[in-house]
Amino acid sequence: MSTSSRSAMGKVTLVGAGPGDPELLTLKAVKAIASATVLLVDDLVNEAVLCHAQPDARIVYVGKRGGCASTPQAFIEKLMVSEALHGEQVVRLKGGDPFVFGRGGEEVEALQAAGIEVQVVNGITSGLAAMGSLNVPLTHREHAHGVVFVTGHAKPGDAGTDWVALAHTARQAKLTLVIYMGVSGAAAIQNALLQGLPGDTPVAIVQNASLPTQRHATATLATLHSTLQTEQLGSPSVIVVGNVLRGLQAAMDPQQTSLQQLHR
Ligand code: SAH
Repeated sequence: MSTSSRSAMGKVTLVGAGPGDPELLTLKAVKAIASATVLLVDDLVNEAVLCHAQPDARIVYVGKRGGCASTPQAFIEKLMVSEALHGEQVVRLKGGDPFVFGRGGEEVEALQAAGIEVQVVNGITSGLAAMGSLNVPLTHREHAHGVVFVTGHAKPGDAGTDWVALAHTARQAKLTLVIYMGVSGAAAIQNALLQGLPGDTPVAIVQNASLPTQRHATATLATLHSTLQTEQLGSPSVIVVGNVLRGLQAAMDPQQTSLQQLHR
């Protein structure tokens, strides 16, 4: 494609809108939102970030807002391509980071296959925000030599994560596990992880990280599922497993699960 025809064409920017707190947007994200003529907005994106958009920008919600089924991925990809071909500056706004369980990879592939210019603006992924809000690091020279971001929800037909293998690796290599989309499968995940990690491994569940509605509970691997139920923590939550949480656990009453409304 020639440079001149490309300049007449629009482009697509995949923008990470961060975990929820609009102040956690990057400056680059704000600039991209401000220069968009069309915004395709995912679920879990805080609408407050749209205050940076031009008043006449077209905003299309493609998530499950309003109780509707979410827009099929193939349709979103086609829409991005056709808007860019019509010269629009398209911003695809995604919760957290577009490349952490955001299907950003599939969208980049579809756009590149169609010859559309595409850029990515990173966002703060919810796993980072969750731990930051608790003042707990993801890595620690004593407790965790690395971190694994892992999904609790495989695509239909996919066997998904081998939790037993992951538990053994996490124990041997001292890794923190940050589980996204893990609430509905928590019982099975807990049982499998217990085959490789001790029952007293600390766990934290953080719902609505970075938002005024944030809540969290601490537990152990042995009490993960029962804690989710008694504390009624639901989606969106991240579940963090690992010894980096020992300090947090020690700071709280060890006899009780603690549920805190964080006053931010
Ligand atoms: N791209 C997103 C993740 C999308 S998958 C990111 O980088 O954060 C959706 C999952 O992300 C949810 O099921 C939940 O596990 C997690 N999540 C998203 N926002 C969250 C939030 N504010 N607090 C806790 N977990 C969140």
